Amino acid sequence: MLAEMRAVFTIFLVTIFGCQNPSADVPSAPSTASKSAEAHQAPPPSSRPLVRGGAGTWVSEAPKASDSLGKDALCPDCDVVLITMCSVRRDHVDVYQDRGLTPALSRVAEGGYHFGAAYSASNFTLASLTAILTGRFGSSTGVVGWDKGLVSDVSTLPEILGLYGYSTAGFTINAASGFRPEYGLDKGFQHLEIIEAPSDQPDGRQRSGPTGTALSAAPLVSWIASAPASQRIFAMFHTRTAHFPFVVAPPKPGGDPTGIGAALWGDDLSPTSSDAVRPGVSGGTATQGVGVSQGPNALQNALRRSGPEGLAAWRGYYAQSMGRLDADIAAVLDVLERTGRLDKTILIVVADHGESLGEHQEFLHGDSYFEGVVRVPLLIRVPGLAGNAAAIPSLVSHVDLLPTVLELVGAVAPAGIDGSSMVPLFTQPKATIRTTTLIEGGVSWTPRDVMRGAVIAPPWALLRQPLMCVTGRPLPPPAPGEPFKCLFNLDSDPGQTRNLAREYPDVVDELQGRWDDFRALAAKKASPVALKHDPAFKAQLKKSGYFKASEPE
Ligand SMILES: [Zn+2]
Repeated sequence: MLAEMRAVFTIFLVTIFGCQNPSADVPSAPSTASKSAEAHQAPPPSSRPLVRGGAGTWVSEAPKASDSLGKDALCPDCDVVLITMCSVRRDHVDVYQDRGLTPALSRVAEGGYHFGAAYSASNFTLASLTAILTGRFGSSTGVVGWDKGLVSDVSTLPEILGLYGYSTAGFTINAASGFRPEYGLDKGFQHLEIIEAPSDQPDGRQRSGPTGTALSAAPLVSWIASAPASQRIFAMFHTRTAHFPFVVAPPKPGGDPTGIGAALWGDDLSPTSSDAVRPGVSGGTATQGVGVSQGPNALQNALRRSGPEGLAAWRGYYAQSMGRLDADIAAVLDVLERTGRLDKTILIVVADHGESLGEHQEFLHGDSYFEGVVRVPLLIRVPGLAGNAAAIPSLVSHVDLLPTVLELVGAVAPAGIDGSSMVPLFTQPKATIRTTTLIEGGVSWTPRDVMRGAVIAPPWALLRQPLMCVTGRPLPPPAPGEPFKCLFNLDSDPGQTRNLAREYPDVVDELQGRWDDFRALAAKKASPVALKHDPAFKAQLKKSGYFKASEPE
């Protein structure tokens, strides 16, 4: 079956894309025995683990058996620091589009590499982080919605590095984030620390307690500062500083004629105002957020009423929050420099997904697969490698990060992953490691048989999403429960304004077939853990803008 599939891909790629290298993009066949049919059946609801949320610190012992790292690796003794930035658009990172917002990210890019065609593996945090940490697309882990967690028999990046003697730690804030032990993403972290959101975070507009910038990076900074100099470390930091609701300096009362400031922070902008009158404040008591098809709410109405000026204000707040996020990056760079680790650290900074800012009639993320949400900034700095001033144009994915790190340090990647190492691109920026990538799942429950997502095979992008492809020109509505199918040519139409699905049905069919074939293979190795959610955690998800999260129970 695999041979047949490769043959089909080869013909398709040569005829449609003229590509001579089909092997790199064909997803791996399962390399392990398939799970039994019983393994795929959902356990009774009463036995499903509960996602409660909450801050805390989880610890586990380092593995005792340490393998030696490959001697001919590019960076065998290097530390690894991975920063995942929630909701960060490529065009708000200065190395891609200079707005003067992100000097610290520019320091990462200097002497390093940045990628021009890096795609997320999903459009929301949990599924993207799972793909980054496992090197597998959502279909391979089954984690494509809030209702599933990672199974225990899938290896993670910190777990593998731990086997090679790394000390591993993860840091984030208590929020409606997927980086939590209940989802299985603590696997391999000898230290996982989730702190209550400090004042610099969208979920932490506290009326008391410490205030300042880069507070959410503080636990990571202390951990790195206290690590023995001779100890190799892997540290991951998931920052939500750019996530809605944006944390910025609120406008003075009456100083924002659009009303967006008031909709975000309420009329009383003083620090002592109650949460209830600050509907944009996550942690408040009012329903909040901005969706497209979610029915009326205060922010959406305010945006609609305020027109272009309101949209500009909204975009301005997002840009401000990006400037604040950059302080998180600066804090990490500073501690690496202070401890003498910067020049021996493989530093990766990547967005888990982007953010819609009103283009295509969408705000936030989680529903669509337009470029603003799925084409993400990716910066990599590798000790001993000169870097590249120009963006690397090759197509890469979240799933490629795990094999890249492992190859750089000389560790062996697990069998069955979907990712390919990006190391060849450091010396040959125009080389190809894949010609197709997948973006799978969404914030609401996504049944496997009507999967939402996208297939990216430049120049084509096929999107299957609940949002219309093109504003103002509705297609015939899809069948009930089916998403819209949108086909865009990214070369001739980078703004995704012309849906070509009806003009190129063969391309739609081929891309869909490629995805279907992959899912059929991947399903055999996916046995995710079904979860249920504590009502308080679901309320937290809603306050972060995820209205339909966690359905069904
Ligand atoms: Zn995110």
